[in-house]
Amino acid sequence: MSEFKTDPFDIIKDHLSPELKARASSLVEAECLPEPAKKVDVYTWPTTDLQDFETPQAAMDALQLQAKILDLTPEELSREERKILAVAEDKWDRRFVQLAQFISEWSKDPSTRVGAVITRDRRIVSTGYNGFPQGMSDDAALYANREEKYSRVIHGETNALIFANQSLEGATLHTWPFAPCDRCAVQMLQAGIRRFVFPKLSADKVERWGASMERSKLFFKECGATWVELPEITP
Ligand SMILES: [Zn+2]
Repeated sequence: MSEFKTDPFDIIKDHLSPELKARASSLVEAECLPEPAKKVDVYTWPTTDLQDFETPQAAMDALQLQAKILDLTPEELSREERKILAVAEDKWDRRFVQLAQFISEWSKDPSTRVGAVITRDRRIVSTGYNGFPQGMSDDAALYANREEKYSRVIHGETNALIFANQSLEGATLHTWPFAPCDRCAVQMLQAGIRRFVFPKLSADKVERWGASMERSKLFFKECGATWVELPEITP
């Protein structure tokens, strides 16, 4: 966590002119409200810097401070707030999808390893990966036999659901390497999950999974759920 900047002013001051920086420093030190200052372009605040904040609240605090220094209008402020929340949400979405990726490696299925992480308010509620039920043999020969495999296997999302052991109303499901299949999607929706985060289906998987995942998205829409397709994951 050491890479996070915790002092909002540390980040803001990098984006101010020398005069404004000196003025802002003295204002912050004196803990008084700045008079309307000459506006600098708040939109040059790079999103990579927004990701340096440890929490959305820290970013919001920085923005409030910046708004005072730059005399932002309420419209400008709310636009920036939305940007901050979107970036903060994106960061956590990526983290949980990366965790799903890690968990997927525990699957013994040689062809498709799926990881699932159910969260609520950025806390992990449950995890799962695709595999046979406990008590069944994990013999590689059973995974190699398509008929046996499809008959026995429980998808990662469903495993996460089974072990959640609590209401999932309004929870988020993060999956790797793609969206829940249509059969999992209906179960997740029935359990109350209303937000889905997953990487975009890669071109080599479209033929096998594309139709199922398009159905999942139709089902999400029908039930008023939202989803986020992450373009790429860099661990
Ligand atoms: Zn499934």
